[in-house]
Amino acid sequence: MTNPILEIKNLNKSFGALKATDDVSITLNAGEIHALIGPNGAGKSTLIKQICGGLSSDSGSVIFNGQDLAGLDVAERAQLGLGRTFQISSVIMEFSALRNVMLAVQANAGTSYRFFKNVRTDKKLVDRAMAILARVELEGRADVSAAELSHGERRQLEIALALALEPKAFLLDEPMAGMGPEGSKRLISFLDGLRKEAPILLIEHDMDAVFSLADRISVLVYGRVVASGTVDEIRNNPAVREAYLGE
Ligand code: ADP
Ligand code: MG
Repeated sequence: MTNPILEIKNLNKSFGALKATDDVSITLNAGEIHALIGPNGAGKSTLIKQICGGLSSDSGSVIFNGQDLAGLDVAERAQLGLGRTFQISSVIMEFSALRNVMLAVQANAGTSYRFFKNVRTDKKLVDRAMAILARVELEGRADVSAAELSHGERRQLEIALALALEPKAFLLDEPMAGMGPEGSKRLISFLDGLRKEAPILLIEHDMDAVFSLADRISVLVYGRVVASGTVDEIRNNPAVREAYLGE
């Protein structure tokens, strides 16, 4: 019996008469990628927002490392290590890639950005930020402003900013969106390794990515979890094939 890092219990959220999430319960265990799939409008993004605190829940609870997150806002949840990333763009366009990462490292350490001008002279900070840039293969672009990075590189920078915060779990809402095949391939292999550091709740439309990465898959349709299981179980589930894969 594994102890889940993240335990979502009976979450509900309605927008007027629409039940966007309907009694959703899922868990995220150490070391795993749990993919959440489902058609457009199924409630996937709503669920992620409820988990990270961006959206209040009508009922239900989110337990993270044994702690009930009720009443905590996005920043407080992030402080506990719940990383919702790759879609909130916190990149500062006019700063270099390196400076962006240094800011995130400082934010994580709780240091304010005091050394605005001389920040490059803080060797420990530079080294740490460069190490993070290297992990996303951007070390060669350290001094390029975020505005001048390609779309794909900027996505890599967003990942670097997320890593700087050392999350204990990742909530990723369509991280491959807008990426070309090369970028997607690189991201898939990156996420594959990342799960060892922190488990990932992954919303993704790219089924090849989902099937190659997921340890478990849950299928959301009209706000309800209609199936949950291993890749093979989900692939071979007739209800899923009908409701989601369109067969
Ligand atoms: P998914 O991410 O699975 O595509 P969403 O969670 O974005 O689905 O949306 C689920 C449903 O809730 C959709 O019908 C959407 O139109 C509705 N919805 C989402 N956010 C809001 C909102 N802020 N106000 C009203 N309806 C919303
Ligand atoms: Mg969505």
